[in-house]
Amino acid sequence: MPSAHRVALVTGASSGIGAAIARDLGARGYHLALAARRKDALEAVASTIRTAGGGAVPLVCDVTKPDQIATCVARTMQEFGRIDALINNAGVMHNGPISGADVAQWRAMIDVNLMGLMLVTHAVLPHMQAARSGHIVNLSSVAGRIITVGNGVYNVSKWGVNVFSEALRKEVYVDNVKVTVVCPGVVDTDLLDKIGDPAARANFKAFVATLDPLTPEDVARAVAYALEQPAHVSLNEIVLRPAQQER
Ligand code: NDP
Repeated sequence: MPSAHRVALVTGASSGIGAAIARDLGARGYHLALAARRKDALEAVASTIRTAGGGAVPLVCDVTKPDQIATCVARTMQEFGRIDALINNAGVMHNGPISGADVAQWRAMIDVNLMGLMLVTHAVLPHMQAARSGHIVNLSSVAGRIITVGNGVYNVSKWGVNVFSEALRKEVYVDNVKVTVVCPGVVDTDLLDKIGDPAARANFKAFVATLDPLTPEDVARAVAYALEQPAHVSLNEIVLRPAQQER
């Protein structure tokens, strides 16, 4: 099917990588359902897509809340009648040592990065299975492939994303639903400014200053590459790093 007729639901579409993915897919002719908590930021992204000639609806949705997810998916189906691609991108990062950590930050990472991604998938999957067509792209990280000191529970959340993605792929390929996990290295977004622990935030920013980070648009191109493969190709994992990032 030409992308001009496809529909994508993007979580975490209000900023950073999710907003870039939405703009990129909009430019490729997708109709977009944009999900996140910040209404004004979502509306700004939707307006940019519409100004460029695309279709987009902002849908306020906290991915930790099953009732809000159900409403978001129902609204997407009402608006567009189908969901061809789900981009599970919403995420938070709270680096810092395990010892003495603020466990509310652990809970936030597991609830958003892992449980939220699983809940949105659970809500969208029946529509893809009924259509016998779909593609789920899950935003993981290089932190989902290697463990580094000071990233423990963020590592847990992203390794969980990789495990869930592979389990899902094995289950739903028979329904003609593809699964891709995308693992970026450092990307220049607001994520780093939201790290809760000031020392961990300073450490991470010092690390980022040593390299030329990826842009959100770099990740968006990788997502589009996965989505635009021919029907017989399932691209299961993409890892992309800044050229100067060793770990
Ligand atoms: P941003 O902070 O710019 O974006 C995060 C997005 O997630 C926002 O749109 C935010 O929207 C949304 N979000 C957070 N919590 C929730 C929630 N409870 N419900 C719904 N949406 C939520 O960061 P990035 O663009 O960098 O992050 C996007 C993804 O990429 C994340 O999964 C992150 O782990 C991953 N990643 C990022 C890397 C980086 O270096 N930046 C590297 C590798 C992976 P709102 O606040 O409006 O709800």
